[in-house]
Amino acid sequence: MRNGETSTALRIDEGQCVGCAICADICPEVALTMGPDDLRPTWLADRCTLCGECVVECPTAAITLNSEVPAPAP
Ligand code: SF4
Ligand code: SF4
Repeated sequence: MRNGETSTALRIDEGQCVGCAICADICPEVALTMGPDDLRPTWLADRCTLCGECVVECPTAAITLNSEVPAPAP
C-alpha cells in the first residue's frame, strides 16, 4: 500500500467532471451530493457501499473506484 491510499476508495477527477450531477441523482445511498453553488460532487465515504453505479453512469468517466484499497481486517 502506498501512502495516502487508505481512505480513498472512490476518486472523482475534477478535471474530467463537468458537474452534470448525474452521479448525485443516481446514487442509491445518497453518497454523492452537489452543493447549491458546487460545480463538483462531494463524496460521503461513510454512506458509500462502493456499488459502482456512479462509475458506470458518469458520462465523462470522472469517477473511479480504487481497487487497491484493502478489505477491512476480519
Ligand atoms: S459507488 Fe454506489 S454508493 Fe458509492 S457513491 Fe457511487 S453510486 Fe453511490
Ligand atoms: S456524473 Fe461525472 S461528470 Fe457528472 S457530476 Fe458526477 S462525476 Fe461529475
